[in-house]
Amino acid sequence: MSCGHLSRVQHLVNVSGGKDSTATYLLAMESGRPFRAVFADTGNEHELTMEYVARLHERTGGPKVEVVRADFSRQLAKHKAYILERWPLEGIPDHIVQEAAALHAPTGNPYLDLCISKGRFPSRMAQFCTDELKTIPITFQVVGPMLRRGPVLQWLGIRAAESRNRAKQPRFNHHEAGSMLWRPIFHWSLEDVWAMHRRHALRPNPLYALGMGRVGCMPCINCRKNELQEIARQFPDHIDRIEQWEAIVAAANKRRSSTFFAAVTDPTDVDRPGTYSGVRTLVEWSKTSRGGRQYQMFFDQQSGGGCSSDLALCEMAA
Ligand code: SF4
Repeated sequence: MSCGHLSRVQHLVNVSGGKDSTATYLLAMESGRPFRAVFADTGNEHELTMEYVARLHERTGGPKVEVVRADFSRQLAKHKAYILERWPLEGIPDHIVQEAAALHAPTGNPYLDLCISKGRFPSRMAQFCTDELKTIPITFQVVGPMLRRGPVLQWLGIRAAESRNRAKQPRFNHHEAGSMLWRPIFHWSLEDVWAMHRRHALRPNPLYALGMGRVGCMPCINCRKNELQEIARQFPDHIDRIEQWEAIVAAANKRRSSTFFAAVTDPTDVDRPGTYSGVRTLVEWSKTSRGGRQYQMFFDQQSGGGCSSDLALCEMAA
């Protein structure tokens, strides 16, 4: 790379609202280089994270974090047209067709709109949320336009100590979008991350002080039983919201059923054998832990909340 090429490098810090990406943002400030910072709002974020990200520049003197959101208007319109054309041919009653079609109007919440357009929630086996809600909007709305002006270096707050998978990642690599990815805090310890916050007199995201092990979707489809229990205890409004979303996504698809967590049948619903368990049932079970062998098996396989994205768009559970 020539000197002229290097001098044109544009720096972009991926921010998740968590401690590692915040430390990376602070490191970028210390480097003295001009940089941009971006956060993808999935629509399933905690309000404390939204506030933390929105005010990061005021608290640090760094650049304002740009917020991107995915827009599923086109996908919703396409699927609505499909419903109106095809479902009647399949013998689906008109009132169901009309209700589902009406629900394909954009709500403006990316997570909910994505699930309505897909007719389902994401799952561990079909984790389309990370790409659709985070990687694609950041790539198309921010990285793409930057690349048209010159090379882009994305700073990622990934640490090897976070997980075995993350420890396998390189310090530098090319991203398929055309940018270079750099993990400047790769060998940092947790203490290094907190020391960086202290050096800038910056309080971390308040979710940590409330006992949350990570920052990201609230809840994440990959969350563990204890995370779900804690979210329900401290932030019951978020569980209420997910329950409302389940009803909306169920009414917008042909099966008339949809659950936030992957399909585990509900042994407590004896009137409707084979019914899948909604978030409320799983929350109640997470509090008692009586019975529910299927639930236990499901949560035993959960990786813990967070995206496994290589773009550090969400923290892994501590
Ligand atoms: S945090 Fe979880 S629910 Fe949110 S986008 Fe990532 S994998 Fe999906």
